[in-house]
Amino acid sequence: MHRKVHGLTERDLLPIPCSLCGSTTSAREHRRGIFEYRRCSRCRFVYLSPRPSQAKLIECYQRYLPEEDPDVNAWGRMMEVIFSRAGDAADRHAAGKPGDLLDVGTAHGFFLDVMRARGWRVKGLEIAKKAIAAARAKGHEVLEGTLDSNPFPPASFDVVSSFYVVEHVFDPVDFLGRIRTLLRPGGLAIIRWPHTAPLVRFLMTLGEDLNLYDPPWHLSQFEPGTIELAMRRAGFTSVHTSTGGWTLPASPVGRTISATGGRIAEAWEAVLKRSFPGVSKTTTGIRKD
Ligand SMILES: [Zn+2]
Repeated sequence: MHRKVHGLTERDLLPIPCSLCGSTTSAREHRRGIFEYRRCSRCRFVYLSPRPSQAKLIECYQRYLPEEDPDVNAWGRMMEVIFSRAGDAADRHAAGKPGDLLDVGTAHGFFLDVMRARGWRVKGLEIAKKAIAAARAKGHEVLEGTLDSNPFPPASFDVVSSFYVVEHVFDPVDFLGRIRTLLRPGGLAIIRWPHTAPLVRFLMTLGEDLNLYDPPWHLSQFEPGTIELAMRRAGFTSVHTSTGGWTLPASPVGRTISATGGRIAEAWEAVLKRSFPGVSKTTTGIRKD
C-alpha cells in the first residue's frame, strides 16, 4: 500500500543529482512523510530528491491553487516593507531614471502597483488565472505562463524581480539564467526567497515541525551561499544578499514578532556584515554584458 500525498505516491518520485553542481553525492537533511530533502556533499545545496517529474508537478499544482479568493489585500499589506525595499534597490540601480521592469510570478500585481507609482514601465508574468485577471483589472500588462516559453524578447528589461518563486522551480539555475537573458546589459535581478533551513533545524531540535519546507512545492531550500552560487552559475555578477525587509502578518502579535525579527536581522547584518539565519532574504545580481 502506497501512501498518497497531494496525489503523489513514492512511485511518482525519482532521485535527481544536485541542481547546482550536478553531484550525486548527498546526505539526508530532512524527511517529512514520503518526501526527503538532500544536502549536496559538494556544494551544500539542499534540494527535494527524489521528486516528481516536472509534468507530474504541474498536475499537482492544479490542486494546489486555492479555489477561494484569498484575502489578497492582506497579502499585499504583508509584503509592503519587502516591496518598498525592493523598489528602493531598483530606484538606486536606475539612478533616477526608471525603466522597464518585469515581475515574474507577479500574483495580483502588488509590486507592479508599487513600481508603476514610482514611474517604472511594468509588466508581469503569472500562471494563476484569477490573479492575472485581478492584475489586469488594475491596468497592468500581465502575460500568462512561465519563463520556459520565452514570453519576452531577450534584453527587454532593466530590472527583473521575482518574489518567492525560485524555490518552486524545477531547475533554479535555468530559471535565473532566463531572467539574466531578459535583462539588458547592466540590468538588475531582484530575487526574494525563504531562508528556511536553519530555522527548521532549530525547530526540529525542539520537536516542532511546522512544515516550513513545504514539500513537494518547495524543491529548493536556499541559503545565502547556495543562492549566490546559483546566481553566479546563471551568469550574474555583483551578487549580494540582504534581509531586504520583513513580512507584516495581519495579526498585531504576528506583526510585532515579524517586524522585531526583521529589525534584529537588519541590525545583525549592519553590525556583523553577515546575513541573519532563518528569515527570508533578497538576493540581487547584475547582468554585466
Ligand atoms: Zn551540489
